[in-house]
Amino acid sequence: MNTLETANFKNEKVLIRVDFNVPLNDQNQVTDTTRILAAKPTIDYIRAQGGSCILMTHFGRPKGKSLEFSLTHIKDTVSEILETPVAFCNDCIGEEVEKAAASLVPGGVLLLENVRFYEEETQGDFEFAKALAKLGTAYVNDAFGTAHRAHASTTVIASFFPNKKYFGKLLENEVQAIDKVMQTGEKPVLAIIGGAKVSSKITIIESMLDTIDDLIIGGGMVYTFVHAQGGTVGESICEPELADVALNLLEKAKAKGVKVHLPSDVIIADNFSNDAQTKIAPVAAIPDKWMALDAGPDSRIYFDQIVKQSKTILWNGPLGVFELETFAKGTIALGQSIAEATAGGAFSLVGGGDSVAAVKQFDLADQMSYVSTGGGAMLESLEGKELPGIKALKD
Ligand code: AMP
Repeated sequence: MNTLETANFKNEKVLIRVDFNVPLNDQNQVTDTTRILAAKPTIDYIRAQGGSCILMTHFGRPKGKSLEFSLTHIKDTVSEILETPVAFCNDCIGEEVEKAAASLVPGGVLLLENVRFYEEETQGDFEFAKALAKLGTAYVNDAFGTAHRAHASTTVIASFFPNKKYFGKLLENEVQAIDKVMQTGEKPVLAIIGGAKVSSKITIIESMLDTIDDLIIGGGMVYTFVHAQGGTVGESICEPELADVALNLLEKAKAKGVKVHLPSDVIIADNFSNDAQTKIAPVAAIPDKWMALDAGPDSRIYFDQIVKQSKTILWNGPLGVFELETFAKGTIALGQSIAEATAGGAFSLVGGGDSVAAVKQFDLADQMSYVSTGGGAMLESLEGKELPGIKALKD
């Protein structure tokens, strides 16, 4: 892998594709700096080597240029986090920007305006990529969150730097974490796939069957399986049209020797709210007018045992409606089990769905081996696809 350590950045003007698509409040203040902090090691490394940094990012989904999606809102936060003055250009291509890039001194940092102010960015336009490429002498991609997009600044631009294109540290870490689960993971390998719907997770499960030893199915997905096997699901979320797909998946898992674990008991509620009436019910016997919204106490103990016997753990998707406190217990318990397994030497990757939000909300992120920064990009990686942004760095 062409990592930063394989390069010498002294006096290079390094075009770095970062993902600074951060949330803002009503006063246009950054409310979550995770993504800027995540790019800092790469920027610090290049500056310390005597290179200068030209930062490119998208921000929201603008239609043309607009103040609402301008990076002026975040430039001061970037400067604070990088602990250095950051110059700003109110465009990302053109003569003015070229001058600003040319005048950068070693260690200097320049933030370009939103690359998505040009529709050519998402179109993967060659000429636009060429105009961006003119600004630098080397290219680094550190934007895992957009690595699944074949955009100008994430993919096409790499072809202008055949001998000077590199994985940023964040991208390197993400790729290594995925490899640890999908290719080199110590056995037994466990995947925990939760979340709302079977339809959005089917490809991931199928692509993982050759890799994993155990599969825990949790969350709303469970009830499509229960229904397919002849159980009653009441008002629980269910995709009856996928019954055959669900049964087929269980057959495939069996044929490949993968042990599939469903919850044995669940928390059912008489409505979808925090103050609903709740009861514990067997997973396959949910009464009429009741809906299952979390894993039950027996399931939590059972899942804990499966987690503790695993050496490599992937977690994608919560076990219940964790956004409502009443139905968060299954997800919290699972997070704690994974944290304990990790402390005991297992490798754990949390990624590609609301489980990332859950581990952050319940203060468990630090206790996981790796928490992915990319939603869609992680999902596509787990589906076994090679991401265009990553392929472009290798070709
Ligand atoms: P995903 O983005 O696929 O990881 O799905 C996350 C969503 O699944 C969260 O918003 C959860 O509230 C939801 N979810 C988990 N369990 C259930 C359930 N039993 N019924 C309905 N929604 C659920």
